[in-house]
Amino acid sequence: MRGTRVWARLLGLVRAVVEDVWIGDEGEIVVAARPGWREHDRCGVCRRHSPGFDLGDGRRRWRALDLGTTLAFVEAEAPRVTCRRHGVVVCAVPWARHHSRFTRAFEDQAAWLAVNCSKTAVAQLMRVAWRTVGGICERVADEAQREVDLLAGLRRIGIDEISHRRGQRYLTVVVDHDSGRLVWAAAGRDRKTVERFPRRARRRALQTARIGVLRHGVLDRWSGRRSLPDAVRCVDPFHVVMLATDALDEVRREV
Ligand SMILES: [Zn+2]
Repeated sequence: MRGTRVWARLLGLVRAVVEDVWIGDEGEIVVAARPGWREHDRCGVCRRHSPGFDLGDGRRRWRALDLGTTLAFVEAEAPRVTCRRHGVVVCAVPWARHHSRFTRAFEDQAAWLAVNCSKTAVAQLMRVAWRTVGGICERVADEAQREVDLLAGLRRIGIDEISHRRGQRYLTVVVDHDSGRLVWAAAGRDRKTVERFPRRARRRALQTARIGVLRHGVLDRWSGRRSLPDAVRCVDPFHVVMLATDALDEVRREV
Protein backbone atom coordinates (compact mmCIF):
# COMPACT_ATOMS: atom_id res chain seq x y z
CA MET A 1 0.00 0.00 0.00
CA ARG A 2 1.42 3.38 -0.93
CA GLY A 3 1.91 6.03 1.74
CA THR A 4 -0.81 8.34 0.42
CA ARG A 5 -3.40 5.57 0.71
CA VAL A 6 -2.43 5.05 4.33
CA TRP A 7 -3.12 8.74 4.97
CA ALA A 8 -6.43 8.54 3.14
CA ARG A 9 -7.38 5.57 5.29
CA LEU A 10 -6.26 7.32 8.50
CA LEU A 11 -8.46 10.35 7.82
CA GLY A 12 -11.37 8.34 6.42
CA LEU A 13 -11.08 10.00 3.00
CA VAL A 14 -13.18 8.04 0.53
CA ARG A 15 -13.76 8.94 -3.12
CA ALA A 16 -10.73 11.23 -2.78
CA VAL A 17 -7.06 11.22 -3.74
CA VAL A 18 -4.32 12.22 -1.30
CA GLU A 19 -1.68 14.33 -3.05
CA ASP A 20 0.74 15.26 -0.29
CA VAL A 21 1.26 15.27 3.48
CA TRP A 22 3.30 17.68 5.59
CA ILE A 23 3.65 19.11 9.06
CA GLY A 24 2.37 22.70 9.27
CA ASP A 25 3.80 25.75 11.04
CA GLU A 26 2.06 24.97 14.32
CA GLY A 27 2.89 21.27 14.34
CA GLU A 28 -0.40 20.22 12.74
CA ILE A 29 -0.57 17.47 10.13
CA VAL A 30 -1.88 18.69 6.78
CA VAL A 31 -3.10 16.22 4.17
CA ALA A 32 -3.56 17.76 0.73
CA ALA A 33 -6.33 16.01 -1.19
CA ARG A 34 -8.63 16.34 -4.16
CA PRO A 35 -12.02 14.75 -4.79
CA GLY A 36 -11.96 11.58 -6.92
CA TRP A 37 -12.74 12.11 -10.60
CA ARG A 38 -16.41 11.22 -10.21
CA GLU A 39 -16.73 13.84 -7.47
CA HIS A 40 -15.45 16.80 -9.48
CA ASP A 41 -17.63 19.84 -10.25
CA ARG A 42 -20.62 18.95 -8.12
CA CYS A 43 -22.87 21.60 -6.57
CA GLY A 44 -22.16 21.89 -2.83
CA VAL A 45 -25.88 21.98 -2.01
CA CYS A 46 -27.49 19.34 -4.25
CA ARG A 47 -24.35 17.51 -5.47
CA ARG A 48 -25.55 17.71 -9.08
CA HIS A 49 -22.79 17.85 -11.72
CA SER A 50 -22.51 21.46 -12.88
CA PRO A 51 -20.31 23.54 -15.19
CA GLY A 52 -17.26 25.13 -13.56
CA PHE A 53 -17.36 28.85 -12.65
CA ASP A 54 -13.99 29.87 -11.15
CA LEU A 55 -11.36 28.82 -8.63
CA GLY A 56 -13.14 30.45 -5.68
CA ASP A 57 -10.98 31.73 -2.83
CA GLY A 58 -8.17 29.25 -3.43
CA ARG A 59 -7.13 26.49 -1.08
CA ARG A 60 -8.94 25.89 2.19
CA ARG A 61 -8.71 23.58 5.15
CA TRP A 62 -11.09 21.27 6.95
CA ARG A 63 -10.32 20.16 10.49
CA ALA A 64 -10.20 16.34 10.66
CA LEU A 65 -10.21 13.98 13.64
CA ASP A 66 -6.97 14.24 15.62
CA LEU A 67 -4.21 11.81 14.68
CA GLY A 68 -3.05 10.63 18.07
CA THR A 69 -2.26 13.84 19.94
CA THR A 70 -1.87 15.99 16.85
CA LEU A 71 -4.41 18.22 15.11
CA ALA A 72 -5.04 17.16 11.52
CA PHE A 73 -6.39 19.05 8.53
CA VAL A 74 -7.46 18.19 5.01
CA GLU A 75 -6.42 20.87 2.54
CA ALA A 76 -7.81 21.23 -0.98
CA GLU A 77 -8.86 23.62 -3.69
CA ALA A 78 -12.39 24.95 -3.34
CA PRO A 79 -13.48 25.92 -6.85
CA ARG A 80 -17.00 27.10 -7.64
CA VAL A 81 -19.61 25.80 -10.08
CA THR A 82 -22.78 27.23 -11.58
CA CYS A 83 -25.68 25.04 -10.48
CA ARG A 84 -28.95 25.27 -12.39
CA ARG A 85 -30.88 25.49 -9.14
CA HIS A 86 -28.45 27.08 -6.68
CA GLY A 87 -26.44 29.49 -8.85
CA VAL A 88 -22.75 29.99 -8.15
CA VAL A 89 -21.75 27.76 -5.24
CA VAL A 90 -18.59 26.23 -3.84
CA CYS A 91 -18.09 22.65 -5.06
CA ALA A 92 -19.03 19.71 -2.90
CA VAL A 93 -16.19 17.68 -1.38
CA PRO A 94 -16.74 14.05 -0.40
CA TRP A 95 -15.15 14.46 3.05
CA ALA A 96 -17.22 17.36 4.42
CA ARG A 97 -20.72 18.84 4.57
CA HIS A 98 -21.44 22.06 2.71
CA HIS A 99 -20.52 25.25 4.65
CA SER A 100 -18.50 23.25 7.16
CA ARG A 101 -14.90 23.75 8.25
CA PHE A 102 -14.79 20.19 9.62
CA THR A 103 -14.70 16.78 8.02
CA ARG A 104 -17.79 14.59 8.13
CA ALA A 105 -16.14 12.12 10.56
CA PHE A 106 -15.18 14.97 12.90
CA GLU A 107 -18.73 16.34 12.89
CA ASP A 108 -20.29 12.90 13.37
CA GLN A 109 -18.12 12.29 16.42
CA ALA A 110 -18.80 15.73 17.91
CA ALA A 111 -22.56 15.29 17.40
CA TRP A 112 -22.52 11.81 18.96
CA LEU A 113 -20.66 13.20 21.97
CA ALA A 114 -23.10 16.10 22.26
CA VAL A 115 -25.94 13.60 22.63
CA ASN A 116 -24.07 11.75 25.37
CA CYS A 117 -22.32 14.46 27.40
CA SER A 118 -22.35 18.20 28.02
CA LYS A 119 -21.60 20.72 25.32
CA THR A 120 -18.73 22.12 27.39
CA ALA A 121 -17.15 18.66 27.61
CA VAL A 122 -17.48 18.21 23.84
CA ALA A 123 -15.91 21.60 23.15
CA GLN A 124 -12.93 20.83 25.41
CA LEU A 125 -12.38 17.29 24.19
CA MET A 126 -12.69 18.12 20.48
CA ARG A 127 -10.76 21.41 20.91
CA VAL A 128 -13.40 23.59 19.29
CA ALA A 129 -15.37 26.65 20.45
CA TRP A 130 -18.52 26.07 22.50
CA ARG A 131 -20.71 27.72 19.85
CA THR A 132 -19.16 25.56 17.14
CA VAL A 133 -20.62 22.43 18.78
CA GLY A 134 -24.14 23.82 18.23
CA GLY A 135 -23.45 24.50 14.54
CA ILE A 136 -22.10 20.98 14.07
CA CYS A 137 -25.15 19.43 15.74
CA GLU A 138 -27.47 21.45 13.49
CA ARG A 139 -25.73 20.28 10.32
CA VAL A 140 -25.67 16.63 11.40
CA ALA A 141 -29.32 16.72 12.52
CA ASP A 142 -30.45 18.49 9.31
CA GLU A 143 -28.79 15.84 7.19
CA ALA A 144 -30.24 12.99 9.25
CA GLN A 145 -33.72 14.49 9.01
CA ARG A 146 -33.50 14.83 5.24
CA GLU A 147 -32.63 11.16 4.92
CA VAL A 148 -35.27 9.79 7.27
CA ASP A 149 -38.94 10.73 7.24
CA LEU A 150 -39.79 10.18 10.89
CA LEU A 151 -43.51 10.38 10.20
CA ALA A 152 -43.46 7.71 7.49
CA GLY A 153 -45.37 4.55 8.37
CA LEU A 154 -46.29 5.86 11.80
CA ARG A 155 -48.87 3.54 13.38
CA ARG A 156 -48.58 3.50 17.15
CA ILE A 157 -47.37 6.54 19.00
CA GLY A 158 -46.80 7.47 22.59
CA ILE A 159 -47.12 11.02 23.87
CA ASP A 160 -45.51 12.14 27.09
CA GLU A 161 -43.89 15.10 28.72
CA ILE A 162 -40.42 15.56 30.12
CA SER A 163 -39.09 18.40 32.24
CA HIS A 164 -35.81 20.21 31.87
CA ARG A 165 -34.12 23.11 33.67
CA ARG A 166 -34.86 21.41 37.00
CA GLY A 167 -38.56 21.08 36.33
CA GLN A 168 -38.93 24.71 35.23
CA ARG A 169 -39.75 23.91 31.62
CA TYR A 170 -41.49 21.07 29.84
CA LEU A 171 -41.26 19.39 26.48
CA THR A 172 -43.99 17.31 24.89
CA VAL A 173 -42.49 14.37 23.05
CA VAL A 174 -43.98 11.92 20.58
CA VAL A 175 -42.32 8.54 20.07
CA ASP A 176 -42.94 5.79 17.56
CA HIS A 177 -43.71 2.68 19.59
CA ASP A 178 -42.71 0.32 16.80
CA SER A 179 -39.22 1.73 16.27
CA GLY A 180 -38.79 3.31 19.71
CA ARG A 181 -37.72 6.51 17.98
CA LEU A 182 -38.47 10.08 18.93
CA VAL A 183 -40.49 11.53 16.05
CA TRP A 184 -41.48 14.94 17.35
CA ALA A 185 -40.95 17.28 20.28
CA ALA A 186 -42.10 20.77 21.19
CA ALA A 187 -41.84 23.15 24.12
CA GLY A 188 -44.83 23.16 26.48
CA ARG A 189 -47.11 20.49 27.87
CA ASP A 190 -50.70 21.67 27.48
CA ARG A 191 -53.34 20.58 25.01
CA LYS A 192 -52.36 23.30 22.54
CA THR A 193 -48.88 21.80 22.33
CA VAL A 194 -50.24 18.35 21.57
CA GLU A 195 -52.51 19.80 18.93
CA ARG A 196 -49.52 21.20 17.09
CA PHE A 197 -48.33 17.70 16.31
CA PRO A 198 -51.06 16.61 13.91
CA ARG A 199 -51.25 20.15 12.48
CA ARG A 200 -47.63 19.90 11.53
CA ALA A 201 -48.18 16.39 10.20
CA ARG A 202 -50.96 17.76 8.01
CA ARG A 203 -48.72 20.56 6.79
CA ARG A 204 -46.22 18.00 5.67
CA ALA A 205 -48.81 16.65 3.24
CA LEU A 206 -49.48 13.62 5.38
CA GLN A 207 -53.22 14.22 5.14
CA THR A 208 -55.57 11.31 5.24
CA ALA A 209 -53.11 8.52 4.61
CA ARG A 210 -50.95 9.15 7.59
CA ILE A 211 -53.35 10.91 9.91
CA GLY A 212 -55.54 7.84 9.43
CA VAL A 213 -52.83 5.53 10.66
CA LEU A 214 -52.31 7.48 13.86
CA ARG A 215 -55.24 5.43 15.12
CA HIS A 216 -53.35 3.33 17.61
CA GLY A 217 -51.93 6.24 19.53
CA VAL A 218 -51.12 5.68 23.15
CA LEU A 219 -52.09 8.90 24.80
CA ASP A 220 -50.81 9.92 28.14
CA ARG A 221 -53.32 11.06 30.67
CA TRP A 222 -54.58 14.11 28.81
CA SER A 223 -56.63 14.79 26.13
CA GLY A 224 -55.49 13.83 22.68
CA ARG A 225 -59.17 13.35 21.96
CA ARG A 226 -59.61 16.55 20.01
CA SER A 227 -56.19 16.71 18.46
CA LEU A 228 -56.16 13.07 17.33
CA PRO A 229 -59.85 12.29 16.87
CA ASP A 230 -59.30 8.92 15.18
CA ALA A 231 -56.82 7.67 17.73
CA VAL A 232 -57.56 4.60 19.81
CA ARG A 233 -56.45 5.57 23.27
CA CYS A 234 -54.52 2.96 25.18
CA VAL A 235 -53.39 2.87 28.76
CA ASP A 236 -49.70 3.19 29.36
CA PRO A 237 -48.51 0.50 31.85
CA PHE A 238 -46.02 2.94 33.38
CA HIS A 239 -48.76 5.31 34.46
CA VAL A 240 -51.02 2.48 35.61
CA VAL A 241 -48.30 1.22 37.94
CA MET A 242 -47.58 4.76 39.08
CA LEU A 243 -51.23 5.50 39.89
CA ALA A 244 -51.65 2.16 41.65
CA THR A 245 -48.52 2.73 43.73
CA ASP A 246 -49.69 6.21 44.71
CA ALA A 247 -53.11 4.85 45.71
CA LEU A 248 -51.52 2.09 47.74
CA ASP A 249 -49.33 4.65 49.55
CA GLU A 250 -52.38 6.67 50.44
CA VAL A 251 -54.20 3.65 51.86
CA ARG A 252 -51.11 2.60 53.79
CA ARG A 253 -50.81 6.06 55.36
CA GLU A 254 -54.46 5.97 56.39
CA VAL A 255 -54.04 2.55 57.96
ZN1 LIG B 1 -27.30 22.71 -6.72
